[in-house]
Amino acid sequence: MALVERSLLGPGPSNTYPEATAGLAAPLLGHLDPDFLAMLDETGNRLRAVWGTENLRTLPLSGTGSIGMEAAFVNFVRPGDVVVVAVNGLFGERMCDVADRYGAEVVRVDHPWGQPVDVQRVLDAHPSPALVAAVHAETSTGARSDLKHLGTALRERDERTLLLADCVTSIGGEEIALDDWGVDIAYAGTQKCLGVAPGLAPFTVSERAWQRRVERPTTWYLDLGLIGNYVTGGSSGGRAYHHTAPTAMVASLHAGLGRILDEGMPAVAARHREAGAALQDGLREMGLELFASEGHRLSQLTSVVVPEGVNSGDVRKRLLTDYDIEIGGGAGQYANSVWRIGLMGHNARLDRVEMLLGALKRVLG
Ligand code: PLP
Repeated sequence: MALVERSLLGPGPSNTYPEATAGLAAPLLGHLDPDFLAMLDETGNRLRAVWGTENLRTLPLSGTGSIGMEAAFVNFVRPGDVVVVAVNGLFGERMCDVADRYGAEVVRVDHPWGQPVDVQRVLDAHPSPALVAAVHAETSTGARSDLKHLGTALRERDERTLLLADCVTSIGGEEIALDDWGVDIAYAGTQKCLGVAPGLAPFTVSERAWQRRVERPTTWYLDLGLIGNYVTGGSSGGRAYHHTAPTAMVASLHAGLGRILDEGMPAVAARHREAGAALQDGLREMGLELFASEGHRLSQLTSVVVPEGVNSGDVRKRLLTDYDIEIGGGAGQYANSVWRIGLMGHNARLDRVEMLLGALKRVLG
């Protein structure tokens, strides 16, 4: 089959940074090779920098973003624990499902899709849950929630509750300060604003959460204690084999993060803001309506209401076949009434904005 190059302007994966692509093609190293272990250590340092954390336990897990979600609940929730989940889109819903599977007593706080999480409603949902979980950037709707406000409010209330954040679509696209915001556990994915192919789930956990982890979780593969013996070294300081680390993917993530940090996270965030604003202005000038509520819109992922009488799928198909541009449909009940346009990582650029707007104008006639 011929190799086709598409512009991936949907909700992810996005086109990779050239450095990340080169990282994938580098000569393969073994998972216990000292050079690879040094690269893994440096990858942890780079993740700490983009995430704004000093957490010792910061590592890429093998698997996509959902593996991060699974690892978070299975390692930090015991059967019967109260877990409050802020739901304002598909990924909040998925968190409820995953937490329920691991025996949590899930208290679900539903919000209209497209709106940010209401911190007061989350606080009012339960006086002292073991864990509160929220999605920072809801990819299903294009809305950002204020994790700083949520984390500060939770810490002010009591020291018991842990805060878990889904950063799959925010990492590498905006500035994040997990430690300042009081986030204890966070996971992400590589395929969005980090500009790396799908396949790893960056994960980080604070010391206070680590002290409260489940000692022997019901999963072997995602047991963070066992994985930690390989990634950070065991009690004897040595690196014990757990599973074969996907070394090519780690090399690619290492390179992608290097690219981001060379540019500087503030500049990368500004680039995403500039591209997102240009896209949203352009869409409004075309008479299109944006879906997520104003003031809470992501720059990296814009949700657009499909105009009356327009077939959502036909437009996406024409963009793909005539222009090699992929955009996303909506999620859940908005599958056919919303489009999702991503400008993530390497795609957060004005030339991509102009290309998409030009093609969309022609397709919509
Ligand atoms: N959380 C959010 C906010 C996401 O956008 C996604 C994927 O789009 C996931 C979790 C799940 O990640 P993955 O599809 O990589 O397993």
